[in-house]
Amino acid sequence: MAVNNRIFLSSPHMSGNEQKYIQKAFDLNWIAPLGNNVDGFERELAEYNTIKDAAVVVSGTAAIHLALRLLNVKSGDIVFCSSLTFVASANPILYQEATPVFIDSEMDTWNMSPKALERALRDAKGNGKLPKAVIVVNLYGQSARIDELVDICDAYGVPVIEDAAESLGSTYKGRKSGTFGTYGVFSFNGNKIITTSGGGALVSNDKEALEKARFLATQARDPAVHYQHSELGYNYRMSNIVAGIGRGQLEILDERVQQRRAIFERYYEAFGDVEGIEFQPELENTKPNRWLTALTVDPEITGISHHEIISQLSEKNIEARPVWKPMHLQPLFDGVKYYSHEEGNSVSDYLFEYGLCLPSGSNMSNEQQDKVIDILKREFEKTVF
Ligand SMILES: *Cc1c(COP(=O)(O)O)cnc(C)c1O
Repeated sequence: MAVNNRIFLSSPHMSGNEQKYIQKAFDLNWIAPLGNNVDGFERELAEYNTIKDAAVVVSGTAAIHLALRLLNVKSGDIVFCSSLTFVASANPILYQEATPVFIDSEMDTWNMSPKALERALRDAKGNGKLPKAVIVVNLYGQSARIDELVDICDAYGVPVIEDAAESLGSTYKGRKSGTFGTYGVFSFNGNKIITTSGGGALVSNDKEALEKARFLATQARDPAVHYQHSELGYNYRMSNIVAGIGRGQLEILDERVQQRRAIFERYYEAFGDVEGIEFQPELENTKPNRWLTALTVDPEITGISHHEIISQLSEKNIEARPVWKPMHLQPLFDGVKYYSHEEGNSVSDYLFEYGLCLPSGSNMSNEQQDKVIDILKREFEKTVF
């Protein structure tokens, strides 16, 4: 299974049915460009999420970029974005030569702080320049306080893009994560809960908008036999082979959610009572997919820092990582405006300073997870006693 028996943070886990869809495409010589697997994957993905339409593309990043194009984000515009995220959430803002403003997290979800968002929007209104969009991220599978965030944005008439790249299969008040904004974004990158090797999707209840997204994603070709173009487009569509992998993966998504949640439960059983350790909380009325089990380790109490834990695990060929480095701390975004949760209290700085992600792949065996748990236990015991 694993390369060199390494235990990964999150590695691809096939269902076995992917080959069936790929074979069908080969049998029909429907290798490229679009085709039955693309149509099927889009239909099945929309059905799974109970949303009207889905457009599949080459990456989650491309889907965010298309969402910004659909919302007419242009040079000089402002876009708000969660600070505690992977850089892919924010890069498309720069593709459009727009200006990002980063919003802090809150402790209950580790996601966008409604308080910070409210302050940022009030200021923006005062300055006479509201953002064209707010990109809300659902970190490690946990939904943000999406009702509160959408209500605040609605009050200012600003559309929400829900970056659900990490929360596919999670629910919020019984509804699928990624379906709450004007647009939702999923990723099928190699490390995500399901993968097509690389890929993404843009979802919406606005079918017309998604038709426009498909148009932009295929070089914005005007309906003419000769190649005519009136708008700037991209080559962003998913291939029919890649979509075949997606169809096979979608069949077992719910099983993968159960498996990742079970992995979280085992970590929680082992360390839930250890003083100085706090797992990413689960907001009530939500069911996160627990894409990655994330926790904070306070070295003042445990006697060991997350950096030391990561290197101890690394020595045993086990991959663990710090929590994402917030965007407002990235050299790329030097000088960008940032709204912390409260004056003088930046939650994402805290989470970055103490946060750790443990191996959480659905193909990790119980024995492998026990190995991780044993190493951690030994490390904590060394210092606690
Ligand atoms: C993975 C990820 C993306 C980007 O998806 P790609 O398919 O890798 O382009 C965007 N946002 C977040 C939060 C992610 O984790």
